This record gives sequence, structure tokens and C-alpha cells, in this order.
Amino acid sequence: MKNRERTDFNKHLASIWKRPLKADTELIAIDPGDKYTGVAFFATNDDGEWYCQDAQEFDPQEFEDALAELILTPAPEPPPIIVFEIFRLYGDKAQLQTGSEFLTSQTIGVIKYLVRVHNEHAARHARAEETGGLMSCEQPGGRCHDPALAPQEITLVRQRADDKKPAKGICNKKKIKSVARPIAKAEYGNRDHIVDAELHGWFYILKTLEGKAAK
Ligand SMILES: [Zn+2]
Repeated sequence: MKNRERTDFNKHLASIWKRPLKADTELIAIDPGDKYTGVAFFATNDDGEWYCQDAQEFDPQEFEDALAELILTPAPEPPPIIVFEIFRLYGDKAQLQTGSEFLTSQTIGVIKYLVRVHNEHAARHARAEETGGLMSCEQPGGRCHDPALAPQEITLVRQRADDKKPAKGICNKKKIKSVARPIAKAEYGNRDHIVDAELHGWFYILKTLEGKAAK
């Protein structure tokens, strides 16, 4: 790619996010869909309590570009945890899906691919550190020249559509207010994708992260 084109592409990537990404995001949760994909962003406050920072909706191509920017560019560091809803074709929906190209599962393929590329890069760094070797990306001018930007492994979490239900119950019980719902109303015709993404985030946080801490 010529330099000018690269700059245009970088500008394109930067303009995808409705609101700029925050550097302290620790988890993103994704509800992939055929037409729209919802993403919810989570972080912890000074007391270690989790909260939802923001939620944004994308069309499939926007989402792929946004995720590529988030994972493949060194700053800000990609969030260490990415949760997504898996795709299943259920028997009762099979007839309706006749002829479908299953765009949702194509989106999931992009999530898995980008995380795999990133994690292989992180693993090469870990091996180089063990053996005392220096990687070419760590040389002056390389993308990992600044040790603070060396890639860290991303934990990729698969959740079922059914996991949203208990998440909703626990959130109600704990009086956790939805951050995504008012955004969905104001910006996305009250579609549920970002609300579902938020529930997936809470399911993992409440069941796995805080569940572990409580033991
Ligand atoms: Zn590197």
C-alpha cells in the first residue's frame, strides 16, 4: 500500500468509533449479528468494581474494521478479555435460514482470526523473552519498540445466547442499571444488540471474574 493510501485507511479506521476508545477498557463483549453487531466496553474503578463504560453498534464491515484497529494497532492496548456470543443454528430456525450465508458466523470468524494473530504475536514475544532473543518488531522503528506496547495475550470467551437470561436476572437483583439501553434508544432505534452485548459482559464478569474472587 502506498503511504498516502495507508494514511487514508488509518483515518478511516479512526473515524469508525462513534466515541473514541478509552485506554483503560479491560473487557469488551460482542453480540454479533447479520445486520448489526453490538459491542459493550467494561472497566474497573479504583475500588476494583466493574462498570460498563459505553456501548456502540456497527454494521458488519464497520465492526470488522473497528475490531482490526482495536486488536492490530499497538495503542491503546487491546482489552485483555473479549467475550462473544457463539452462533448456533437451531432446528426450529433451520427452515427460516434456508439459503442464508450466515453472516453472523462470518463475523465470528473475523473475531477468532484477529485474536489468533494477536495471540501468536504475543506468544512469540513470550518465547523471545525466555530465550533472551530480540524480535525484529522490537528494533528501533518497530511496532513493539516501546516495551510498554508489547502484546499481551487476549482471553477469548465464547458464551451461549442463553447466558443473557441469567445475566439479566442477576443484574436486576444487584440493581445494575443498563448503560446500553439509553444509548440504544437514543442512537439505534432501540435495537437490542448493544443491550445483549452488555448482558454478555456482565455474565462473564459476575459468573467468572467476580465468582472466582468470591471463592
Ligand atoms: Zn512484536
